[in-house]
Amino acid sequence: MSQNTMTMKMMIEQAENDLLHTYNRYQVVLDHGEGVYLYDVEGKKYLDFMSGIGVFALGYSNEYYENALKAQIDKILHTSNYFYNVPAINAAHRIKEVSGMDRVFFANSGAEAVEGALKAAIKYAYNKDGASDHQVVALEHSFHGRTYGALSVTGNSHYREAFGAMPCEARFARMNDMDSILEAVTDKTCAIIMEVVQGEGGIVPAKEEFLKAVRKLCDEKDILLIFDEVQCGMGRTGYMYAWQKFGIKPDIMTSAKALGCGVPVGAFMMTQKVADNSLTAGDHGTTYGGNPFACAAVNAVLDQYEALGITEHVKKTAPYLEKKLDELVAKYDFCLERRGRGFMQGLVCRGPVKGVIADAMDHGLILINAGADIIRILPPLVITEREIDEMISILEPALAKAE
Ligand SMILES: *Cc1c(COP(=O)(O)O)cnc(C)c1O
Repeated sequence: MSQNTMTMKMMIEQAENDLLHTYNRYQVVLDHGEGVYLYDVEGKKYLDFMSGIGVFALGYSNEYYENALKAQIDKILHTSNYFYNVPAINAAHRIKEVSGMDRVFFANSGAEAVEGALKAAIKYAYNKDGASDHQVVALEHSFHGRTYGALSVTGNSHYREAFGAMPCEARFARMNDMDSILEAVTDKTCAIIMEVVQGEGGIVPAKEEFLKAVRKLCDEKDILLIFDEVQCGMGRTGYMYAWQKFGIKPDIMTSAKALGCGVPVGAFMMTQKVADNSLTAGDHGTTYGGNPFACAAVNAVLDQYEALGITEHVKKTAPYLEKKLDELVAKYDFCLERRGRGFMQGLVCRGPVKGVIADAMDHGLILINAGADIIRILPPLVITEREIDEMISILEPALAKAE
């Protein structure tokens, strides 16, 4: 049957017959986007407060971004890393500028960026002592991706359980608990990896004192500090990278999700000191990573961040979002707490939020959870107060029903 004679329900049935069942998808087939709205194949309109899990920072159909991609398609899509290409040369330089790091490696996803970051840290330690049993300290409730290395440091044992020995020996500590870090660190620790604001794990921001103490410990012991900024980075907290609010700089960091605003691209960056003493020719590579199309996307994204003043907009507008969410917390017993930074907020609820999210979806608002009991608010970074009001007008009755 041709696609345009199928109903949405039929499309979903066909997909469920063909695709591996690894996701619990919303029962919606999306068709196109416009601004901060999405439309399904039956024409229903949704206000998007999940932005493709923090990817679509610029919203949909940004003309400048789309024209840049179209122009790149007409030139060249791929070169391999046997060659240099202009978009990658520019993108690397600009990522250095916005991140304050010294060296950039392009990958294709967040998980791959984490893989590279871990390899760099382990190689750095290997260069010091030649040992092959280094450990990494990670945090409970962290999320770093689904590939084996990233999974090793993901603090949700359920994700690791079935998959045997992990390539990277991790010891887990707790967010904002320096004693637990001190307990987890051993003579073999080569790195501490963390999200500056935990995303999947429930929107948990790291406190400044905690980051400071971890940084100090890392300096004392020559342990590398890795910040995974895949979700909290790229302006989401009102800073290009979340650590910049405190000026507590990592040795290695990762970026992805909004870095390409829809084109799959990731990157890990490091200081000169790490670059000089870790990965060298032959240690790491990728076929697609840093290809001209992906890097044209990065450049267009960074152009638009500047032109639209994205970080300033988030800083200016986030207090309104926080105020509106705080009002919900005050009004409804079902809501226990709001936490987060900028446009990365969590509403911690008294019970499962699945019903609230489904009800919002019925009424044209897309949200996601972060854990069973937390509603995650992750809108495009271009939303305005008007759209925050619209979101609240749909979320509030859904919460009222959950009371
Ligand atoms: C999403 C995410 C990843 C994994 O990124 P993928 O592109 O899905 O591989 C890694 N770290 C964090 C913090 C994330 O939120």
